Amino acid sequence: MVENQPVRGQWVRLGEAWRQLCANSEYPPAVRALLGEAVAASVLLAATLKFQGRLTLQLNGEGAVRLLVAQCTHQFGVRAIAHYDQALAATISGDLARGGQAFRALTGGGGRFTVTVEADERNLRYQGIVPLSGTSLAESLEDYFNASEQLPTRVRLAGDAGRCAGLLVQKLPGADQVQASTAWPAAQRAVVRLGPAALLDQPVEPLLRGLLPSYDVRLFSASPVAFECRCGEGRVTSLLRALGAQEVRSILAEEGAVTVTCEFCGRPYRFDAEAVDALFIHPGTDEASALIH
Ligand SMILES: [Zn+2]
Repeated sequence: MVENQPVRGQWVRLGEAWRQLCANSEYPPAVRALLGEAVAASVLLAATLKFQGRLTLQLNGEGAVRLLVAQCTHQFGVRAIAHYDQALAATISGDLARGGQAFRALTGGGGRFTVTVEADERNLRYQGIVPLSGTSLAESLEDYFNASEQLPTRVRLAGDAGRCAGLLVQKLPGADQVQASTAWPAAQRAVVRLGPAALLDQPVEPLLRGLLPSYDVRLFSASPVAFECRCGEGRVTSLLRALGAQEVRSILAEEGAVTVTCEFCGRPYRFDAEAVDALFIHPGTDEASALIH
């Protein structure tokens, strides 16, 4: 935060957590960069959670990227995934390497951006949707803040193979004389000038203090962020039960076993004939009722 000024911000840079998150996927560079930006954005947004839960950022595109999901919990556990068209994404990655703009090509002419906030305990769910606008994910996020919180916000995001990073700066409502201060325009100018290389590489303390050299910038200690998947045996079991005994048994007959692989972390869940039997001999399922009657 900036002492005595109506300006505050959040910053994130991931290394190891980001590399672990991508370890099971071979994303083309342009898709990986966008996914990195989305992961950084999900952490910046999750930092504003006021309860235990999670925040999900979902991008539905009409270009090479059809679906992108980045999720961050209140304890900063992140996971993410992108579905994309391989050939289109490879072409866009080539253009990107030649200095082209990837965002519109990746997301197509339209598309939307959804932020969902869910609480663990209370039955609380909030969802905000904005159209994908402008030439970057950061611009869409700025629109989201303008629409949902009505706070003027500037966002910068970056991602590459090794790291992803983001910075969010907001103007807070405040007293008139503070509103007339030059800190907010100065912060905006500084944030807009900040390029991906600085965001990804520069030592953070001089980077943040250097944004507003004539003001007293106060930095708080950072929280660790880790790659963490929410999948588990229980979730997969529910998924298979929802598919139904007939469908699951037909897969079993064809494949010899039913294997469900988590898209987020790549962990395989394997069910052999015995495990499939156990799945459906359980009260509440159709087959169990059939057995009882
Ligand atoms: Zn998983």
